[in-house]
Amino acid sequence: MTAEEATLSTLQRSAELHARARELTPGGVHSNVRLNAPSVFFERGAGAWLWDVDGRDYVDYLLGQGPNFLGHAPTRVNEAVAAEARRGSVFGAQHVLENEAGELFLDTIGWAERVRFGATGTESDQAALRLARAATGRQKFVRFAGTYHGWLDNVLVKTVDGVTGPGSRGQLAHHVADSYVLPFNDVAALDATLSAHDDIAAVIVEPVMVNNGVIPPVDGFLKHVRRLCDRHGVVLIFDEVVTGFRVALGGAAERYRVRPDLAVYGKAMAGGWPVSAVAGSAELMDLFAGDVVHAGTFNGSVPACAAVIATLGILREDPPYARLEEYGATLMETIVEVGRAHGLPLRVQGLPMAFHVSFGDPALVRDYTGLAVLDLDRYTRFSHTLADHGIWVAGRGIWYVSAAHGEKEMAATRERLYSAAADAAA
Ligand code: PLP
Repeated sequence: MTAEEATLSTLQRSAELHARARELTPGGVHSNVRLNAPSVFFERGAGAWLWDVDGRDYVDYLLGQGPNFLGHAPTRVNEAVAAEARRGSVFGAQHVLENEAGELFLDTIGWAERVRFGATGTESDQAALRLARAATGRQKFVRFAGTYHGWLDNVLVKTVDGVTGPGSRGQLAHHVADSYVLPFNDVAALDATLSAHDDIAAVIVEPVMVNNGVIPPVDGFLKHVRRLCDRHGVVLIFDEVVTGFRVALGGAAERYRVRPDLAVYGKAMAGGWPVSAVAGSAELMDLFAGDVVHAGTFNGSVPACAAVIATLGILREDPPYARLEEYGATLMETIVEVGRAHGLPLRVQGLPMAFHVSFGDPALVRDYTGLAVLDLDRYTRFSHTLADHGIWVAGRGIWYVSAAHGEKEMAATRERLYSAAADAAA
């Protein structure tokens, strides 16, 4: 079935599965992030494409929220995982792939001396924060409004009208006081906060604030953050869960030429498999060799290491970054052009491999408060129209481009964008 032959409302099998799912799991989904997405059930993915259970195809720009950086079901990665898993999965002890994965990982990012693998970005962020507290003997951390560092109590916040509170009901309310929440790209605010408080262990930052608006760091911002952290003896943590291996082979640290003390990775590092990592200097990381605890049954499992080795092998042998820059730039231009053609004020910002689409003034948004001028709800509705026309994207506006997007995908995307925009403008 082609995109033109069906709309979401006619996806019969998906609707049946969704009805059953709601009886089995809250909201019919296993992550709250998926609650408001179109209730499509997918059967399979290959490269830059997804197929739903009703036989409809989609050009995918969600990439599973980012991990499918090589495209879906990358053959070399999946064959390595399947082959290695024949020997077993997890031993509660060391195995032969760990050193190979560790060496390749450290050599690829280039600046760190030690790595610890985990399974999710959320937990590796916690590991980094704990290391920073242990190293400094201080308790609090600085973070920026609009960044996301996982769903746990001490990092999940919501900032409304400049006031920060818990991001969820049921959260331990006192954890909000664990962090100072500052505007992204605001060096003066960071300077003032670090000067006024001597209880700050770490500054944790998404070097590109992908999670809200894909806001790039303004010129020099990350270098200033580095300098201020040095001045105050504060540990600088880059949360590279999204940017790692995506915005450059060496992540944002390479792209912006700023070296953090610790960095956290996930998503793109393992070709769609659940692997994360925290990396940094021997001095900091070796605290985990003593009385600073970091654990996880599945850390460094055989399939995880196999996935990392194969994924980093591909990225090193055939770096996709130049192609991604080109594809993403063309796609960003196309989206604006399609909007113009149909009288829709579509605007884009970000990097070619991860950018944000919304409705509103095209001027660059520099921080979370700035997003208020955009019509994000209109975009969320538009994302459902895009799904109707065979383009799968996040309702929050983030578009991810994979190494598997090429000419065929660009042609299909352009055609589908035009028909979705015509629909939205009608
Ligand atoms: N940090 C960032 C920047 C993220 O974008 C995410 C997830 O989207 C996380 C941490 C949490 O990672 P995970 O969902 O693997 O726990």
